[in-house]
Amino acid sequence: MSSSPIASGPLARRNSRRVVISHGAREIIVGGGAPVMVQSMTNTDTADAIGTAIQIKELARAGSEIVRLTVNTPEAAAAVPAIREQLDRMGVDVPLVGDFHYNGHTLLTDYPECAQALSKYRINPGNVGKGAKRDTQFAQMIEVACKYDKPVRIGVNWGSLDQALLARIMDENAGRAEPWSAQAVMYEALVTSAIENAQRAEELGMAGDKIILSCKVSGVQDLIAVYRELARRCDYPLHLGLTEAGMGSKGIVASTAALSVLLQEGIGDTIRISLTPEPGGDRTKEVVVGQEILQTMGLRKFTPMVIACPGCGRTTSTVFQDLADKIQTFLREQMPVWKGKYPGVEAMNVAVMGCIVNGPGESKHANIGISLPGTGESPAAPVFIDGEKKMTLRGERIAEEFQNVVLEYVESHYGQGRHA
Ligand code: SF4
Repeated sequence: MSSSPIASGPLARRNSRRVVISHGAREIIVGGGAPVMVQSMTNTDTADAIGTAIQIKELARAGSEIVRLTVNTPEAAAAVPAIREQLDRMGVDVPLVGDFHYNGHTLLTDYPECAQALSKYRINPGNVGKGAKRDTQFAQMIEVACKYDKPVRIGVNWGSLDQALLARIMDENAGRAEPWSAQAVMYEALVTSAIENAQRAEELGMAGDKIILSCKVSGVQDLIAVYRELARRCDYPLHLGLTEAGMGSKGIVASTAALSVLLQEGIGDTIRISLTPEPGGDRTKEVVVGQEILQTMGLRKFTPMVIACPGCGRTTSTVFQDLADKIQTFLREQMPVWKGKYPGVEAMNVAVMGCIVNGPGESKHANIGISLPGTGESPAAPVFIDGEKKMTLRGERIAEEFQNVVLEYVESHYGQGRHA
């Protein structure tokens, strides 16, 4: 049989080094062909140890595999060991990353218990210090990382780019017969800053497999250009994320657009979605979006997915929207328990469809599907299991009954006594 000319799937993953981020027995592998890890960052005051520990627990429960927190003051550094202890007491073993700017060298030196409690340090080379102090302060942070055997992320951001380095690259550009555009100079400065600082860390004694790089910008095309170049020029694992992605759908769409292109090209070993939460919004949204990008691209599986039609003039009630929402929420809420109890359940697909036009067809493609009655159809909802119509639900309790059908399917197909 000849193979189909229509290929699908991402390009081969870029061949990067393998970095281990650990806490106790928990090891998170970034790079070296490991699955792309999802991480997040707290927005609580780190000095508030209890509030921060609670938010980290929520992020970890939502599926964040690494959590970063800012360590910006002596009070924050002093709180880090207490946060770690509180998490350990709650059975949350997610590795913590300290985000340092300006005073990281002092905090890591003055608060050794903080340095020890963290599983990784983020160093922004643009915010390490100026002039002669810069090299010493950078070296001081690398020295602490080596002493406690911690990996680091050299995290460049174009909002805080090393100005001395930018000036140097601009001077070099001015000497070119055909100078590059300002945009190309900026890209070069970002990539050079990440790579030169990683090399400097290695010269200072840090092992090459303890370094992760990032070069965050806020424009989609800029991010794609910078990471392609970064991927071409080094083999450090790459932390991928669009910085300051924004609020609501814009933040989600921009992050998805940028990350999808790069992930499809095999670039990126860990991702963070930098969403601005709506006032009072849930911080875990950034974790959900990160997981959904990876899962919808077929790169990882985290939680059963609901396939739902958009609805149209054939559905005049909100019954099917409510059902799709209820089922997706139900599935996501069950996952922390199901993960251990029902291995493989994260690959399950559930279809919730609005009418007979595509309902039965789409439902047959899913593990379980329900085709709700559209306007003018008889008030009956056929349910399909593994491609076959198994029952018809009717009446006011369709949502509850369908949820029970899903539960029975999960138990029988992924539980210990499964027959599938
Ligand atoms: S399945 Fe029916 S209700 Fe849903 S979008 Fe298609 S035609 Fe409209």
